Amino acid sequence: MSSKYADLGRLGHCWRCGDSVQGYPDHDGQEVVLDVREAPTHLVPEELRWRVNGNGIALPLGWTDPTDTVRIRHEPVCTASPRPGPEPLRNHLNRARPIARGHENVAAALTEQLRGQNRNPTSDDVRTVLCPRCEADPDFQCVDTSGTPRQANHKERVAAFHQARYDAFPVPQVAGQTARLLRPSRHQVRTIPCPRCPAPSGQPCTDDKGQPRTANHMERVDAYTSDI
Ligand SMILES: [Zn+2]
Ligand SMILES: [Zn+2]
Ligand SMILES: [Zn+2]
Repeated sequence: MSSKYADLGRLGHCWRCGDSVQGYPDHDGQEVVLDVREAPTHLVPEELRWRVNGNGIALPLGWTDPTDTVRIRHEPVCTASPRPGPEPLRNHLNRARPIARGHENVAAALTEQLRGQNRNPTSDDVRTVLCPRCEADPDFQCVDTSGTPRQANHKERVAAFHQARYDAFPVPQVAGQTARLLRPSRHQVRTIPCPRCPAPSGQPCTDDKGQPRTANHMERVDAYTSDI
């Protein structure tokens, strides 16, 4: 199948190291798992050189112009590989620029998915998750304390919806370094206390005079997005 997005392959994660990888079929339909970083040809032994053609098929490349870059299977450059490839190649790929380019490739592969992330979900969207406040099951309306159905979802359910979507979104990883593509909502970030100002969980950040701020402190956003 030829498509504009064929060269993005099937994005997944290496089961050994957790890095983002792209899977492409070869001519026999077997999946070839390629690293998301391109490598300078002169650092790659001929038998490890690959390219992806316009139909999204992975092809062994063999000899090519040494000024070019090539694709490589992930396994020889995986940090947890049982059969590591040449050291100069691995050293090169673990430098800042190839890692940054790798992240760009993953971001390109995820762009369509990111576009589909509607920042303003409808109440029906929100109802696809369980309500942590009234315990309404997915697809059921929230209920008030007397058991009467509510038109509006509880705000805790809206927060749970954003959180579930954020958690489910793939986290790109290249050479062990992760990058969040989906920014958490202001509301989500407020579910943790701010490390900079005295704001507790659920409350807005405050400025130097103790007045509430519209935006969360950067430190709070960082604390929310850091992976532990
Ligand atoms: Zn790996
Ligand atoms: Zn509810
Ligand atoms: Zn704060």
